[in-house]
Amino acid sequence: VFQLSVPLNFLGSVYRELRQSLLDMETLFNLQKVNVTIKDEPNAKPLALKTGEIKFQNVDFGYHPERPILRDLTLTIPGGKKVAIVGPSGCGKSTLLRLLFRSYDVENGRILIDDQDIRSVQVDSLRRSIGVVPQDTPLFNDTVEHNIRYGKIDATSEQVVAAAQRARIHDTIARFPEGYETKVGERGMMISGGEKQRLAMSRILLKDPPLLFFDEATSALDTHTEQALMNNINSILREKGRTSVFVAHRLRTIFDSDLIIVLKEGRVAEQGTHRELIDRDGVYAELWSAQETLFNDEGEKTEASKEQ
Ligand code: ATP
Repeated sequence: VFQLSVPLNFLGSVYRELRQSLLDMETLFNLQKVNVTIKDEPNAKPLALKTGEIKFQNVDFGYHPERPILRDLTLTIPGGKKVAIVGPSGCGKSTLLRLLFRSYDVENGRILIDDQDIRSVQVDSLRRSIGVVPQDTPLFNDTVEHNIRYGKIDATSEQVVAAAQRARIHDTIARFPEGYETKVGERGMMISGGEKQRLAMSRILLKDPPLLFFDEATSALDTHTEQALMNNINSILREKGRTSVFVAHRLRTIFDSDLIIVLKEGRVAEQGTHRELIDRDGVYAELWSAQETLFNDEGEKTEASKEQ
């Protein structure tokens, strides 16, 4: 009886773990809205990356036929550069990322990466080349270390720690009850939105993909932490010559981009560097001055409250 119960117990725990990890994968797919029905074309080839240039050519897309989101959208994200996409809420910024990841396919037009139509490459190789830090990062019901290592399963503990340091979360983790062994996720310790975002950053830095997308990835951080983290990220991206796309409401996090693309009603309203767009005195300049006024007012308020 003893001999039999051991393997049964063992099987039971394997089953539980397996079930749990399947549930976790399901959560991840749901959260990232990955369309698992998109399949490779019969003669699909692996994506061959050169500089990492991304082009949208005359793209039409809507989630429902009666409501177009992107209309005849044409834009180029130059390889190896830092590009920002800004625009009013609901204009389709996150949709661009989802189309690139092939969570959905375009209705008309095409999307090219280094001149290859993304529908003609193996989906798996496409997704492996892209790292996304989404608005809301899914955490696994596992330790902090595993949650970061998910970016690169065979990473050493030293590499995990180095990624956490660059994402400015190492010191926080060190103060968790069991450090990197602390369990997080729904059944683990509750962590803040900002901590979650920095774990997601560690994950992507560890994965180190050729194309990186940050979708409001620092929105839950305070200005000081956000600035320090962005400085780290910027220098890593520049050093490695990675193509990176930032979607952000707070223009202060992206004003130093090589190119800023402003979307409005599913099209490019204007594009250029911060300086060029300010001189143009259009949509971007207006957004910038509105945010600066707000920022300065808040700054004054904080200073005032400190003095009291
Ligand atoms: P925000 O700045 O608020 O994040 P966004 O510019 O990233 O907005 P998207 O998330 O791309 O906007 O959404 C564009 C439009 O498409 C919105 O009107 C949104 O309601 C709609 N939308 C987004 N996802 C879906 C979906 N899965 N099904 C139907 N409509 C959707």
